[in-house]
Amino acid sequence: MAPSSTNKRSTPGRRRTPAGGAAAGTGAPEEVRRRVDRLRRQIDEHNYRYYVLDDPKISDAEYDRLMRQLRDLEERYPGLRTPDSPTQRVGAPPSAAFATVTHGRPMLSLANAFGEEELDAWHRRVTNLLGEAAAAFVCELKIDGAAVSLTYEAGRFVRGATRGDGQRGEDVTPNLRTIRSLPLRLRTATPPTLVEVRAEVFLSREAFEAINRERAAKAQSLFANPRNAAAGSLRQLDPQITASRPLDLFVYGAGAVEGLTLRTHWETLRWLRAAGFRTNPHSARFPTLAKVKASLAQWTERRHELPYETDGVVIKVDAFAQQAELGATSQAPRWAIAYKFPAEEAVTRVNDIVVYVGRTGTLTPVASLEPVHVSGVTVTSATLHNEDEVRRKDVRVGDWVVVQRAGEVIPEVVRVLSERRTGAERPFKMPATCPECGTAVVRAEGEAATRCPNPACPAQVMQGLIHFASRDAMNIEGLGWKTMARLLEARLIADPADLYALRREDLLTLERMAEKSAQNLLDEIAKSKQTTLARFLYALGIRHVGATVAETLAAHFGEIRSLVKASFEAVRDVPGIGPTIAESVVTYFQEPANCALVEKLLRAGVRPVPPDAPRGGPLAGRQFVFTGTLARFTRGEAEARVRARGGSVASSVTARTTDVVVGEQPGSKAAQAAKRGISRMDEAVFLALIGERRS
Ligand code: NAD
Repeated sequence: MAPSSTNKRSTPGRRRTPAGGAAAGTGAPEEVRRRVDRLRRQIDEHNYRYYVLDDPKISDAEYDRLMRQLRDLEERYPGLRTPDSPTQRVGAPPSAAFATVTHGRPMLSLANAFGEEELDAWHRRVTNLLGEAAAAFVCELKIDGAAVSLTYEAGRFVRGATRGDGQRGEDVTPNLRTIRSLPLRLRTATPPTLVEVRAEVFLSREAFEAINRERAAKAQSLFANPRNAAAGSLRQLDPQITASRPLDLFVYGAGAVEGLTLRTHWETLRWLRAAGFRTNPHSARFPTLAKVKASLAQWTERRHELPYETDGVVIKVDAFAQQAELGATSQAPRWAIAYKFPAEEAVTRVNDIVVYVGRTGTLTPVASLEPVHVSGVTVTSATLHNEDEVRRKDVRVGDWVVVQRAGEVIPEVVRVLSERRTGAERPFKMPATCPECGTAVVRAEGEAATRCPNPACPAQVMQGLIHFASRDAMNIEGLGWKTMARLLEARLIADPADLYALRREDLLTLERMAEKSAQNLLDEIAKSKQTTLARFLYALGIRHVGATVAETLAAHFGEIRSLVKASFEAVRDVPGIGPTIAESVVTYFQEPANCALVEKLLRAGVRPVPPDAPRGGPLAGRQFVFTGTLARFTRGEAEARVRARGGSVASSVTARTTDVVVGEQPGSKAAQAAKRGISRMDEAVFLALIGERRS
């Protein structure tokens, strides 16, 4: 394993003397500064994909490598360290699609120890800082899930939030209520005034695999690991989706507490158990590090027997007095460390490299492997992501390779055993034409992905239709691969809107379609017309618009036509949306065929309703009426912003109206507001109220 980023490296004597061309004030050569910059941009992007989209593009092991490189450089050149560096931050800011919850006590990350040497280094630091040995350690399995904070007031569950950026998380109370093992009331006779319970929400291995199987059958993208699946399931605006996923939780600590005195972590776990929470039965308390290590060795072997994924063991100093003395960095407590299990590897052969065409036309090379066992699972294929990745790793057909599963289910090729080459191996070449439709493929400058540009490519059309009907999209049950393929073959449909024009007699012409199933399908299709704007947007299959992004956009724009007309800047400025997504959304709606599809769907009777106002937003309890023209927004956009902040909107001034926004050339509503003594504001005041600048 790579050496740790321990204080060994930061001692001045070992610091490398910067050689020539030091960047101003930082003591670091220009090339190092550029490298640090590049790493930060890469890591920020991966954090966004992981924490916001729940859809990482690289493995955790690879992410950890990037993070370690950055940490090492910052330790060598402390002048380069900035407060916004990913090494100084936890997670990602909460998404605007949810109301925000400020944690009573920060929810931090954990420092990692890869291997025994790093664990020893942590132990030495703890003993040095305390000036004495830690009284005892508690070891807990590190469950691969998503951290949540559960607030109980006077014994009742009142609020639940994700970790977010550690200070502020997302309010996911209704979703957490769907988890059966979460007590809604504490079982103690004298509940404390307040307790923030910290827990890990997770999916069992079986549930995770079932979800991914179902997603694969519907050609939806797979969750990379149980943790992203759990986080994705929890961060749904529709609690029914959360309820359909068998989430579970283990509690492992407390944040802010009032009216309860606890002195050790072990005592806290006991209290939590007595209060009715599920704590992990394998937690144990040890007096010495030697005993801790013996337990780690056991779990490294035994962890596959567990029905859920774990990626290590968390070791915590037990006594709160000692924890307080040790304190925390901006990222993690010093009194705890996550000992990570070593990644598991196996050697196998690449039988072929096949290319799949995805819904958005992306060509993905996949290594088809000689079946091999890695951490209890038979692995038969591994994604190679894109052409550059194949080249970087130099994977050839016939190669012997090391594959790895590092606490996650999608395996990766770590490296090629080039010493085993015979000369008969065949290098991979990305096909010049789409393997499905024969159109010449394109690769945009600066992009890693090669794509088939033909929107009529049968692979894309099929996958687009399957995606449209899938559970998280329009949720048309009974419309799987086979039926869809038959509908396409019979030319009964060419695009998703055609589904709404299907008649019973059309369906009955299909093979294996009986009266009853035809009627069921028509009923399901009709039912899907009543949907949410977020589902509708997600169903369109716009590149980079996953379920969470769709929810953010729906909450912001409130209605589809506002988004269709929105400028690049208007989309980019939505909190939680970056330039890549904005570009993709705007490009999608610039395509006349896509706008025509939206209109066709609306004409067919599809009714995407705007999201409910988030509970407790800054404008909660206020009703707005607009009159006149606004310079910055269309009426729809302005209304969506009010809704996104918890307010409501009406078209006429009534007794319930609290605010009237007066634009250019207002109508009679301004006068009505004046007559009723209702507060009026101009556009500048409105912009300030919603926290947006005049552009
Ligand atoms: P972490 O997962 O390494 O450790 C902190 C978390 O552990 C806590 O928030 C909590 O959720 C969890 N936990 C489980 N059991 C616990 C217990 N008994 N006590 C305390 N906490 C417990 O840290 P992190 O900051 O959440 O995530 C960093 C890791 O996420 C990285 O090491 C990397 O592996 C992964 N990551 C991957 C990507 C990617 O693109 N692949 C991007 C970002 C992060």
